[in-house]
Amino acid sequence: MKLAVVGSGHVGLVAGACFAELGHEVILVDNDPARVTALQRGEAPIHEQFLPELLERHRHTRLSFTGDLAAAVQASRVIFIAVGTPPAEDGAADLSYVESVARGIAGSIHSYKVVVEKSTVPVYTSNWIRTIMLRNGAPPELFDVASNPEFLREGSAVADFLFPDRIVIGADTVRCATVLRDCYLPLAGGSYYLCPGAIPTPDQAQVPPPLIETTAKSSELIKHASNAFLAMKISYINAVASICESVGANVEQVVRGIGSDSRIGPRFLRPGIGYGGSCFPKDLTAFRAVARESGCDFRLLDEVIRINEEQRQRFLGKVRKALWILKGKRLAVLGLAFKGGTDDVRESPALAIVQALLREGCEIAAYDPAAASRAAEIITDQRLTFAKSAYGAAEQADALLILTDWEEFAELDLSRLHTALRYPIVIDGRNLYDPEKMAENGLVYLSMGRPDAIPEKRTDLNLKAA
Ligand code: NAD
Repeated sequence: MKLAVVGSGHVGLVAGACFAELGHEVILVDNDPARVTALQRGEAPIHEQFLPELLERHRHTRLSFTGDLAAAVQASRVIFIAVGTPPAEDGAADLSYVESVARGIAGSIHSYKVVVEKSTVPVYTSNWIRTIMLRNGAPPELFDVASNPEFLREGSAVADFLFPDRIVIGADTVRCATVLRDCYLPLAGGSYYLCPGAIPTPDQAQVPPPLIETTAKSSELIKHASNAFLAMKISYINAVASICESVGANVEQVVRGIGSDSRIGPRFLRPGIGYGGSCFPKDLTAFRAVARESGCDFRLLDEVIRINEEQRQRFLGKVRKALWILKGKRLAVLGLAFKGGTDDVRESPALAIVQALLREGCEIAAYDPAAASRAAEIITDQRLTFAKSAYGAAEQADALLILTDWEEFAELDLSRLHTALRYPIVIDGRNLYDPEKMAENGLVYLSMGRPDAIPEKRTDLNLKAA
């Protein structure tokens, strides 16, 4: 099938490359000329496993890039809108990019098209897209608007797209549902998984994935309600972790007990410095705005957001507990991305913590395998420098802070780390290590929701004063 994907960012680019992988002919559209040129040159502007391979595999055959929306619409049967939906000042979703694309599509419709919201949007957006398109001259019988939310996670985006837990199609006409079903047939029908070149099946993937068909409104709500639920799980376990710290319990043991209940499940119950990224924070406030506009009192969402913000303060409290005075301290920071496996620093709790520490007068040497240059665009403070490795960052630091859950941060050579640090103190916002093992290696180790670990016979490293 001929598809256009408008917006070549984290979602659009991955979706476009994956649709090409499924055998469709895809035109990726973006209004950022630099991005289009880079993509045409074969560069992958975001860090995602398997993405360079897919772009290379399909770039000269089924995948093309353009800034010309009208031409892409005319050449395609289905147009996916995957532009950003950032938060407006009041927290509601700013849909101006979506509206502008809908206007742009309207003028180029001369045969039947399905216009699909891939961006995360509030309920009723499909109605608005239809209205805007009609106002701008699109013939009513020549298009349908559908919702097909995207559930991929940055860091594992390609695998998530090709091995999804489910595919949700929100369509209000049979014709439109049929077209969308065809887009996903290689996944829902299972043929993709039999292809010799298919990307490796991730652990726990269930193939083929179920295809859930709903109305457009239900589908729009599914995405917001899913993200709000996941954020709630994170805030819930973070609140439980705080209680664990106060009473001297261990949150990991508690999670094992809670998560083994099949009604709850163990996933997404990892305490840390809170959620971030370009989705959860904005989707929570957008969903809260939807609830308010529809007259529903959904204060649970306020509490989820409050706990998440508090979590950063709790982490800063641990740094103070370990170091007392922050002004003038040299800190090693591991991780700037909002999570491991990505170079995305949007709404990164790691960056928020770095900024707070700089305000307190710390000097920071940071290391991130992928996100350093993006972080440097945001924080220009001279007291933030970038190291080439975790050990380089740790050199002569008063303490090491782990802020992102990159896999390589969980596999550090602890004796090398100990030698590099001025004081052997590790404050882990992601619980990547076993406290006992850290103490055995001579490291003071503070983590989230677990008792502090102090090496034996190191009374100088005691935290008693706090
Ligand atoms: P992004 O900022 O990475 O990409 C958006 C792209 O759209 C940019 O390249 C931008 O240049 C382009 N664009 C903006 N206006 C345009 C226009 N008028 N015409 C053509 N291109 C235009 O955003 P993203 O992270 O890909 O997110 C896109 C949507 O998908 C959002 O609604 C987001 O909430 C949702 N989503 C994101 C993720 C994620 O993990 N990033 C996951 C699921 C859903």
